[in-house]
Amino acid sequence: MMAAGSLEGRRAFVAGASRGIGRNIAYALAREGAAVAVAARSTREGKLAGTIHSVAANIESEGGRAFAVECDVTDEASVEAAVDRTAHEFGGIDILVANAGVMWLKPTLDTPLKRWELCMRVNLTGVFLVTRAVLPHARKNATASLIAVTTTGVGMTELGSNAYWTSKAGVERYYTGLATELERDNIAVNCLAPKKVVRTEGMEVAARDLDIPADMFEPDEAMGRAAVILAAQDASSMTGTVQYSLDLLEQTMDRAGA
Ligand code: NAP
Repeated sequence: MMAAGSLEGRRAFVAGASRGIGRNIAYALAREGAAVAVAARSTREGKLAGTIHSVAANIESEGGRAFAVECDVTDEASVEAAVDRTAHEFGGIDILVANAGVMWLKPTLDTPLKRWELCMRVNLTGVFLVTRAVLPHARKNATASLIAVTTTGVGMTELGSNAYWTSKAGVERYYTGLATELERDNIAVNCLAPKKVVRTEGMEVAARDLDIPADMFEPDEAMGRAAVILAAQDASSMTGTVQYSLDLLEQTMDRAGA
């Protein structure tokens, strides 16, 4: 653990943190000193590796503070309970990473209604529910940062994974509008998407029929480092934007070196 990280004293709720990008972001926030609620459904090992308890234990083994909390982002009562338990445990929440997501990389005629609805329920309604639950806590702080994880696929209209990418387009519209709703609160509201593909447990399954070239993958830690940058700043600096991991890291290094 770093002695005095940029997120010392901050309290984060990371939705979808049992594996993949959410886990990497949870580790990165904790290494910068934030107390991190590791929220997802998996409490026991299943088909995909990773649980809220294993991620929280890894954070604690590095000297960080974690709180494993069961949460299904499609279930209003589950979300409200998980957020309330976290606020009680940490004495507040001032960082949200709405990362929980499901991927479906198929064209329309290969998309059953239940897949379309799952994309919308987890990826779009889930972001709304966790955001609405965290907002009253975020407002109690002088500053806060809300981050929703989206995808470059939103702009890839020439390709065909439209159920998944439409749900993420909805998130980008929601968060850019929410930034305006919250402009008097000094709450930063931004989307963060991987610039390239991230090798995760979920991606390995979703993309098993695709042949993705090695140079299309970004380093595992890029999203975590980018999330730290967004979490550490406030609405006076960046709000209502869609950021891309590698671009944000490059710009920030440029600014630091300028
Ligand atoms: P992943 O390995 O499948 O992890 C998904 C996470 O979301 C897990 O922690 C899972 O936890 C959680 N989740 C799914 N449904 C949930 C629910 N109903 N309630 C609570 N948590 C739920 O996927 P990933 O690749 O890390 O993707 C993470 C995010 O990045 C997603 O929003 C995805 O769309 C986005 N993204 C990924 C890539 C990529 O290249 N990997 C690219 C662009 C965007 P439980 O199963 O334990 O609930």
